[in-house]
This record gives sequence, C-alpha cells and structure tokens, in this order.
Amino acid sequence: MYRSLFLVALATMACSKTNGDSGTDTEPPPSYVGIALRTDGWLRGDLHMHTEYDGGFETVETNIALGESLEDPIFLEAHPEFTGNGLDYLAITDHRTVEQQSDPGYHSDRLILVNGEEFGSSGHAGAHGVSTHVEHDPDGDGTTLEDLVSAIDHVHEQGGTFSPNHPMLPDIPWPWDTDGHDGIEVWNSGWGLMSPELTDEMLTDWETSHGPASPIYRRAVQTKGQNSSAQALTWYEAHVALGRHAAVIGGSDRHAILLPGFPTTWVRADTADAAGVVGGIQQRHTFISRTPASAQLLVEVTVDGETYEMGDEVPISASGTEVRITVRVGRATDGLLRLRAGSAATEADILTAPLGSVVLEEDVDSADFTVEHTMQVVPGDWVYPIVLEPLVVPGSDTDQALRIYTLAEEVRKTNGEDFIGLAEIFADLVDGEVLLDGSRCDPADWKPEMMQCNPVDSESLATFYVPDYLDRALNVVSENGQISDWCMGAVGSAIRFVE
Ligand SMILES: [Zn+2]
Ligand SMILES: [Zn+2]
Repeated sequence: MYRSLFLVALATMACSKTNGDSGTDTEPPPSYVGIALRTDGWLRGDLHMHTEYDGGFETVETNIALGESLEDPIFLEAHPEFTGNGLDYLAITDHRTVEQQSDPGYHSDRLILVNGEEFGSSGHAGAHGVSTHVEHDPDGDGTTLEDLVSAIDHVHEQGGTFSPNHPMLPDIPWPWDTDGHDGIEVWNSGWGLMSPELTDEMLTDWETSHGPASPIYRRAVQTKGQNSSAQALTWYEAHVALGRHAAVIGGSDRHAILLPGFPTTWVRADTADAAGVVGGIQQRHTFISRTPASAQLLVEVTVDGETYEMGDEVPISASGTEVRITVRVGRATDGLLRLRAGSAATEADILTAPLGSVVLEEDVDSADFTVEHTMQVVPGDWVYPIVLEPLVVPGSDTDQALRIYTLAEEVRKTNGEDFIGLAEIFADLVDGEVLLDGSRCDPADWKPEMMQCNPVDSESLATFYVPDYLDRALNVVSENGQISDWCMGAVGSAIRFVE
C-alpha cells in the first residue's frame, strides 16, 4: 500500500531468458555470466509483484512482458551487462487473489511462471506454488493466530511455500508468533526505500489492538539506527537461532513504474520449472542480489567428505567440530564481504540473545573472489554471507557522487507519508510526459544518467529502468541513524549446524 501511494505521488509530481535449458544465440562475455550458473540450476527471478487484479497499475500481460524485456535487443544494446542476465521466473502475487492465474495473458515462452498470491490483510506473506486462494480471516472476526496457522497449513497442503513479506514495515508488520515459515522476505523493493524503522512505541500501539507481540519480534525491534530491512534480517537471524530455519527471499513488490527483478531472488532449482523454484525455496537454496546482473554468492562447507551449500543443515558431532567455509563472490569488485555467525537461542532467552556478529570481513578485489574461513562450531551454530557494494561507483565525478548522497539521504527518509523530497529528485531524472503516458516511450531518447522508459509498457504510467548508479542509492545501507558509504549488494541463506 505504501508503494502505490508513493508511486501516485511521483506521477502527480511531474526495471532473458528462458527456462534455464535453452541458451541465448550469442554467448555473453564471462564477466557478465559470473559464478551462479543456470547450468548449475541457479534461476533468477522476482517473487513479489502486483497487477491490476489487486490495484496494481498494469495487466498481467504487461507485467510478464516487462519481466521478459531485460534481454530485449534494444535494452541489451544500451546495457550489455545484462546479456545472459535476464530473468528466469516471475511470481505474480496479487493481494488476496489467485484470479490473475486465469488471465488470458498469464503465459510466457521465456519465463517460468510461479503461481502465487500475497496472503493477508494486516500482515502480508508471499504464498508461492499455490493455485487455490488462501483465506486470511475465514470467520470474519478479526485475524487470530489460529487463522494464520491454518493459512500456513493450507499453503503447505498445496505444496507451496509461505514467507512473511516486509515483516517489519510499521504499517504492515508481522508480530505474530507463527512457525513454519519457508522463507522470510528480508529485502522488499530497494533495501533503503520505504523502509522506516519500526520503533518500540509502534509495536506497543500494535499490541494494544492485537495482544502481545512475539518475543522474536521484540528482539528484531532492538536493531536500531538502520531501517526495517535490517530489522527483518535480525528477525531472520532470530528464526535461524531458534532452529526455525528459512530461506532469505526478496521481491520488488512492484505495483508500477519500476521493473521486476530489482532485487532478484536466486534459487538453485533441481528442475527448470515452477516446481523447481518452489522446491529450491523449500530447501533454502537461495540468495538475493540487488539486480539480476549484479553480485552473486556461492558458499560451500565440507564435513566428513560431504559438501553443503547456502541454506543447508549440516550434521556435525554433538561436541562440535572445526569447519572450513568457502565463500565465492561474483561481480562485486570493490565490495565488502561480511560473514555473520551466531549460536542457538531458546524462546526463553531470545529477547537478550546476541544473534549474529561479523566473524569475517574481506575486501572483494576481483569479479570472481574466493575466501576461506575456518571456524569452530557446535550444533545450533549458523553462518551466512552479506555483500555490500560502494554506494558511489568508484571513479564517479564529484557531481555524481553528490547527487547519489543527496538521493540516498532522501531514500533513507522515505516512509508512508514523507517522500516528497525523493519525488522531487526523481522528477529531475524522469521525463514527466513519458511517465504519465507510457505510449510516448521512445528508446531513442534514453540517456545513460536518466531513468529509461520501457517500451513494452504502453499502459498508463510508464515503467523505467533505474540506472545502476541510482539503483545503489535506493539500496543504501544505514548505520547509527545515518546513511553509510555502502549499499546492499547480496544476502545469502544461512547454513545451520545440527547434531
Ligand atoms: Zn505486502
Ligand atoms: Zn506486495
């Protein structure tokens, strides 16, 4: 809801591939391909988008065409780094409906369509791999914990996955003590965009009308001075520490204007189809990146001759053992790799549990960077990777650097009410006439420093590619109440050690 308000405000002011098994005509240069390969099962896509079926601005057909468009020849000519880096799958997750799945435009020759919906009313969750609507409040007497538990069961009965969306957003929080989350949407639209921190006071207000919040949630609110995305990551850590292991997932939550796939969720799928994507989430074989063409992550741990990867539960002896973790980072030169690790917690001590801390920090100095880290672990311990990228692209001139810091400051301030400053900045970066009338989009007018309209969206408001230097600002990382020199680049699912 936040986003549609913001997008309307922007408007009044005035982001291929295939099923993973068929290649493109020309092989992309190796630097574009990176390290997480389709031939190894890695599929990239967007798990969270809206169409006109729930108040989004565009048809199913246009949303799918936008998803396919990242490998259109005109786009690739301007952005060769996307060669071989289009999307593989889309999940159209309209609010409280699966009707979009019956739309005549619901098909694609190039993309895997993962059936889904956005469940809920006062709290939202992505339901993926479902074709039957999941009731939020069947008795109409106000949502209860029992309603949520039965909804999670209903999703699982359909063979699908259930992942609370933007769980820490103040207006649409998820403070209930539900279990059985297959994934957690820790990255919703830009990492720093529309991501106000949830405060103790806000949570107390929520409790007045809903009853006590889960202690796990209260623990996440203790992350302060950053934003609700960072709090969602703390919530994720708390789940993993409690043994409620889940996949990290991301979603653009697009309603209009911005392209799908920003951020991108990478899923290592056993089969290049919707069942493979859902199965990959169930196995927690995921990582998220800022764009389909940006940072990639691979993690390996070998114990007793068996190799494990991101999202796995790794059996070790009860007394613990020393493990060697290999982290490979692709396409994030000049970035910073952080490994965060923590131990088991109990529900009784979760409020004071330390959760994750950085156990390794390394400068990423090449497009294919590998580091090994040895650590002593006991059952219940866990570890996961984060990649930060420079907020300002190294080598940028002073004017551009200033523009990015100014924009990132405004991005940091965005919430449900205060986004005029951001809209004013974007007004200088968008052709207002094209924004209001997508049919006026002409790629011949694209300028590298400006938002670039997408010709496949000629319905009402236009859709735009956000140039990479600007996309970094939308994903700014804050620390101590201020923007940092970094943007979020990638986050991978945790490896957890078990007996
Ligand atoms: Zn939502
Ligand atoms: Zn949504």
